[in-house]
Amino acid sequence: MKLSKFYYAILFFLISCNQDNDRFAIVIHGGAGTILKKNMSDEMEKEYKIKLEEALNIGHSILRENGKSIDAVEAVIKFLEDSELFNAGKGSVLSNNEEVEMDASIMRGDNLNAGAISGVKQIKNPIKLARKVMEESDHVFLSGLGAEKFALSKGFELISNENLITEKRLKSLKNIKKRDSIIDNKFGTVGCVAVDKNGNITSGTSTGGMTNKKWNRIGDVPIIGAGTYANNETCGISSTGWGEFFIRNVVAYDISAQIEYNKISIKNAAKNTLEKVKKLGGSGGVIGIDKDLNIIMEFNTEGMYRGFKKYNGETEIKIYK
Ligand code: ASP
Repeated sequence: MKLSKFYYAILFFLISCNQDNDRFAIVIHGGAGTILKKNMSDEMEKEYKIKLEEALNIGHSILRENGKSIDAVEAVIKFLEDSELFNAGKGSVLSNNEEVEMDASIMRGDNLNAGAISGVKQIKNPIKLARKVMEESDHVFLSGLGAEKFALSKGFELISNENLITEKRLKSLKNIKKRDSIIDNKFGTVGCVAVDKNGNITSGTSTGGMTNKKWNRIGDVPIIGAGTYANNETCGISSTGWGEFFIRNVVAYDISAQIEYNKISIKNAAKNTLEKVKKLGGSGGVIGIDKDLNIIMEFNTEGMYRGFKKYNGETEIKIYK
């Protein structure tokens, strides 16, 4: 009798271990900013929510089928880049000379390997190129024409910039040019953080940057530590917001460093960092997951397109504060 109790205890232990290993999660953002309910039609709101849900489901099913977080993040960001709703891939905001110039980065938390590209104009899915840089070059960060030459050498197709331009973005460029600004207070960058069943964290971010940007301006998105960071020992983070402030505060790494050195929660770390951004006059948000699967979606703007889905089906999709 005693022996069978012992076996049951072992069995229970093994089952709970197994359940632990089955844990995974995914979180996404589609940009933060002055996103107010009063400025959004019901149809638009529905459209955004559907896209976010589809994106989450793509990542969730890869992770559920024992896929790697790097594959989930790449697939989800590719999907969001292909949607014209967001400021990434097709539908990216336009630079001062009416071109799309895209930045992207990806980082894995198991070996701290990373890849990034900036200022590419002829790549359909910048996140795929960022991953290629990470996996098939000796470098972390390639820019402009060089990045496109590398893409060609790896079998990527170069597409015409016009294929990435949408009417909606042309209109916003015209409006913002009247004000001679790059601040439109809406950041539609996309980002994704995933943890797979092996506990590997990957983060990725992709963007067209800021409307009316000039002089090959580069934002935070392709800068490892600012727009994207991942470390299995701490967390994965993807940022969105006014890039200059996110670079100056090294936002994504700052959150990870607080967890590493100060042993505080990811939520408090993110709040502290966003407070620093705000103090300097910046705005935006971050998404992240820590190594214990705690999820954050923090922002200091009116809204942020965002959502998460966990191994147990728990899901949240939200837009406003
Ligand atoms: N962070 C991006 C940039 O500054 C903009 C965004 O988040 O939409 O390029």
